[in-house]
Amino acid sequence: MRFEYDPENIFAKILRGEIPNKTVLETEHSLAFEDISAQAPVHVLLIPKGAYVSYDHFARDASDAEILDFNRAMAKICETVGVEDGFRAITNARRDGVQEVPHFHLHILAGRPLGRMLE
Ligand code: IMP
Repeated sequence: MRFEYDPENIFAKILRGEIPNKTVLETEHSLAFEDISAQAPVHVLLIPKGAYVSYDHFARDASDAEILDFNRAMAKICETVGVEDGFRAITNARRDGVQEVPHFHLHILAGRPLGRMLE
């Protein structure tokens, strides 16, 4: 699989500071911010700072340090945003996954019953 990263995608612009964001957490290799169109009381997007298009791209090509940082950031977010009653973590990839922004991101949703996704 060849992954082509578009440096003009909106999350790349956020990482370059060209577009403002409501930061929830910043670490060496990751950034988390509020989704602009929240689908739940908690709707955080966690992204790596590196140029990865999708989860499979990140999991294949990111360094161990980036992958560890991302996962620890995920845990820190869960400690701070209020997910005691549960949460959903989703990542969409490419056309069939209906990915709108081609920079890998994890949606973290919580704060209301989220319904069943898979039957
Ligand atoms: P996707 O469909 O998984 O790619 O989701 C992209 C998400 O990015 C959507 O939930 C959008 O609401 C969100 N989004 C788009 N632009 C911005 C922004 O500038 N700031 C924060 N979230 C954004």
